Amino acid sequence: MTEVTPPALDISHLSVNFENGSGELQALDDVTFQVWPQEFVCLLGPSGSGKSTLLRVLAGLVPPTRGEIRFSGDHPPRIGYVFQHANLMPWRTVIENIMLPLELQGVSPPEARRQAQTWVERVGLSGFESAWPRDLSGGMAQRVAIARALIHDPDLLLLDEPFGALDALTRERMGAELLHLWQSQRKTVLMVTHSISEALLLADRVLVFTPRPGRVSLDLTVPLPRPRSDDLRYTLEFAHLARQLRQAIG
Ligand code: ADP
Repeated sequence: MTEVTPPALDISHLSVNFENGSGELQALDDVTFQVWPQEFVCLLGPSGSGKSTLLRVLAGLVPPTRGEIRFSGDHPPRIGYVFQHANLMPWRTVIENIMLPLELQGVSPPEARRQAQTWVERVGLSGFESAWPRDLSGGMAQRVAIARALIHDPDLLLLDEPFGALDALTRERMGAELLHLWQSQRKTVLMVTHSISEALLLADRVLVFTPRPGRVSLDLTVPLPRPRSDDLRYTLEFAHLARQLRQAIG
């Protein structure tokens, strides 16, 4: 018999309703999909299609109204979460922000600092250990947020438009850096983006969501070989996939 790898994440008939003053608002409707270990999945769709809500449900911040979520593994999953804005603590330096999750886990400060130093280097911030968040560019702040999300070795990395507030060139560079990091760390990743080309450059699969209530209208496996470089954007295959996603978004 062949061993079948269980999905890292199994979402089954998930619906989420919110109470709003005049009644209920349905954000997600009967969403079912699975994510495989170490897979990089992008979520695309118009604003309001429930993509952030889905991440918040996975992080345990919003309860599902109906349906089920199952994580593989014998412990509750550790989640790393990165938002559009880095949300760094302004009174802590770069390295102190990165070591925070370890401190909260009870790791001793010298050990937390040692591990944070490794992450400072991995995300290209050597020399900025003692800088304050207010002195960082948007891209640098997001690097700190990504390091902070990865330092406690999460089972699942949730990225909610992490580069949405950056200029186009910084965004491209950050995408390439994230890809590089993912290739060395191999986390299971769910990332919300509005950018079709970002999704195609990064993801193994792209899920397209319908306007509210969000349902999965397309589950596209990205057949582009890895490692992927920016030049892929100019190929016919890329254009063909981009058109498919564009049409699915509507
Ligand atoms: P997306 O990330 O795709 O832009 P969201 O998940 O942010 O979409 O939002 C989906 C819908 O749910 C939107 O109409 C939004 O206004 C609504 N919504 C999100 N969070 C709440 C909440 N806590 N209370 C009420 N409505 C909410």
